[in-house]
Amino acid sequence: MRIAIIGAGIAGLSAALTLRESGIAAVVYDKGRGPGGRTVSKRTDWGSIDLGAQYFTARDRSFRSEVAQWEAADVVAPWSVNPWVLPERQPASAQSRLVAKPRMSALARHLAKDLDLHCGVQISEMSRELGGWVLRERHGEVLGEYDAVLVTAPAPQAQSLLAEPCPALATQVGTARMQPCWAVGLILEHALELDFSAGFPSSGPLGWVARSGSRPDRPHWPETWILHATAAWSEANLEWPAEQVASYLTEAFCDLVHRRVEVTASIAHRWRFARARQSLGSEQGYLVSEDVLCAGDWVTDGRVEGAWLSGRAAAQALIRKAQGSAAPDA
Ligand SMILES: Cc1cc2nc3c(=O)[nH]c(=O)nc-3n(C[C@H](O)[C@H](O)[C@H](O)COP(=O)(O)OP(=O)(O)OC[C@H]3O[C@@H](n4cnc5c(N)ncnc54)[C@H](O)[C@@H]3O)c2cc1C
Repeated sequence: MRIAIIGAGIAGLSAALTLRESGIAAVVYDKGRGPGGRTVSKRTDWGSIDLGAQYFTARDRSFRSEVAQWEAADVVAPWSVNPWVLPERQPASAQSRLVAKPRMSALARHLAKDLDLHCGVQISEMSRELGGWVLRERHGEVLGEYDAVLVTAPAPQAQSLLAEPCPALATQVGTARMQPCWAVGLILEHALELDFSAGFPSSGPLGWVARSGSRPDRPHWPETWILHATAAWSEANLEWPAEQVASYLTEAFCDLVHRRVEVTASIAHRWRFARARQSLGSEQGYLVSEDVLCAGDWVTDGRVEGAWLSGRAAAQALIRKAQGSAAPDA
């Protein structure tokens, strides 16, 4: 069975690995420069900064056993942090928070290492032709024919890809809502010596702040902070220039911590589709219409763990189909 997976985020990688465990090879395409999607880190002259997913949790039993393997491979470690709700200085919910090391993107790199992965390839068209599903990249080049395609792009991107070839599935995808996030990496001249390393501001434009060096295997110097704007602020100011966002959120950070900061450099990144505001909460874990499937965090619960479980569930459906035991439900 020839299978193509669109997207090498956690969902796409989990699907490709699950298929491979059953002896089924899949080709994975991603438009990014490397795998990881929203778990990527930005390389800068001062080191890598995790501007996307900050940490992940492992609640599901099967995901916990997968994470144990990642820990054994020394790719993932617990982040012993006690975030505060700010400015109240109340402890946020206690839970085990895990991070990849030495940067978040290391997890995707680890998962992708033996896969047939093609990065820098944006799929712009899917069409059903005589020999199967034909994928075309954005310059029109045909990438091959496949018996099944798994789409793991964020919901709005999956929806536009599917609108023409699979309108009913596209409509279903369109019920998921995603929200943006402006993220800023702040490299400081001097250490702030604050008595907390991460926090959830309870009001204002910021929704999350964290000191990068508090995570395992990150340099402590220069002191670097990651700031995430709230979804509401990001949505209202989505089209601001990056420099303006960086300076506005830096000011908000100064107000939050009651310090002036001397900034060596700042870098702002806009995630148009950062988190699922309304994920589909699908118990099945994936969507399907004949031989086209969708997986991703927005199908399940909007988190790294949900993305991994969703990709795995979609792959298991494909394995059942390949084995002819039970076709996925239409
Ligand atoms: C700022 C931010 C903070 C977050 N914080 C947390 C957190 O603390 N904890 C947590 O659990 N989760 C967090 N998340 C969410 C988490 O990152 C996601 O749930 C998870 O990474 C989603 O994985 P995915 O594989 O479903 O999607 P993605 O990671 O989005 O992967 C989809 C991939 O598809 C590719 N793609 C899209 N369209 C095409 C196309 N046409 N052709 C080829 N490739 C395509 C993209 O390049 C991308 O690599 C955060 C996300 C953001 C952005």
